[in-house]
Amino acid sequence: MDIRLENLTKTFSNKDKTHETIAVNDFSFTIKSGHLVGLLGPSGCGKSTTLFLLAGLLTPTSGKIFFGDEDVTALPPEKRGIGLVFQNYALYPHMTVYDNIAFPLRNSKSFKEEHKDAKERKMEIDKIVQETARIVAIEELLDRKPAQLSGGQQQRVAIARAIAKKPKVLLLDEPLSNLDARLRIQTREEIRRIQKATGITTVFVTHDQEEAMSITDEIIIMKSGVIQQINEPQETYIHPANVFVAQFLGNPPINMFPVKVEGGHFVLNDKRAIRTVLPDGDYQMGIRPESFNLCEAGTDESVDAEVVFKATIGRDSQVRFNINGKLCEALIESDRQVAEGGMASFTLKRSGVHLFDTAGERIELW
Ligand code: ATP
Repeated sequence: MDIRLENLTKTFSNKDKTHETIAVNDFSFTIKSGHLVGLLGPSGCGKSTTLFLLAGLLTPTSGKIFFGDEDVTALPPEKRGIGLVFQNYALYPHMTVYDNIAFPLRNSKSFKEEHKDAKERKMEIDKIVQETARIVAIEELLDRKPAQLSGGQQQRVAIARAIAKKPKVLLLDEPLSNLDARLRIQTREEIRRIQKATGITTVFVTHDQEEAMSITDEIIIMKSGVIQQINEPQETYIHPANVFVAQFLGNPPINMFPVKVEGGHFVLNDKRAIRTVLPDGDYQMGIRPESFNLCEAGTDESVDAEVVFKATIGRDSQVRFNINGKLCEALIESDRQVAEGGMASFTLKRSGVHLFDTAGERIELW
């Protein structure tokens, strides 16, 4: 089922109403049916507020939310057909895994109406619990209590409980942040597998770019309640809409520095280095660390720079060059000859060079 937001806004006022925070500012977008979409951005950008609005736990200040053709803006959470998974699993500690998954079904009015006969209802619940446990691969854990499970297993139980009700929409709020690094990777792949197996339209909140990039169909990047870009993860990395997005995605981060165009060339370290059709003026250039190719001095379109720092880490060397007064980090193959304190020349891979105007908006270069 598609999710559509129309000019959705949520503001919060402080107690004496002297100050307003616009947590979600005029959001309009559509999430395609069956897609897994990541809400990504720094702390306080409005990710959780957006998710809570979708869940019906918060009421928007203005705007509308549609699930398919149905306007759900005024519906309470229990009437929206959503499954919710939070960071802290929130499993019932005194219940077995089986009962944790069965609980929402046993307490669902509509489920009771659909299955009036108590015996038939019990059998149907058993079927759903077994089937859901199989999907999230916890069949052998059904008799255990939550305290007897690892963090990753507990999170899978929380997902099983959320999908047992066959929700139209699955909402995940930082579901992996309580897990250690290895388990996070394993569990995020698991979430993707489960989401694909069930085909439920899913919104996933995270502040971890790698997590969002690795499992989502699209990412929505937010800053201070404003959407910066919506696109497939790789497209967003390759074509960042502005300086904020360019700096937010990528590890190590993109190198940003001011650059001038003079007479059809970018001026890098006082040399007219790279040809461009752009008019003379001031711009901002971003270079991804993986885009530096060392070369002989004097090579066409090469840049000469001082090597301020060099460290070899396994396969790659981390080198810091001084470009237009900024320290820029490059990842290059470690067998190349570069000496700290000396000069080096490099060309740049075009795909890793991004240009922005002085206000921070992208300019298409090549
Ligand atoms: P985090 O990654 O830290 O969880 P987030 O992106 O999920 O952050 P939100 O929790 O959605 O951010 O908060 C967005 C903004 O709205 C923040 O400035 C926050 O302080 C504010 N805010 C959220 N809830 C309330 C509230 N109940 N009352 C007042 N302000 C709120």
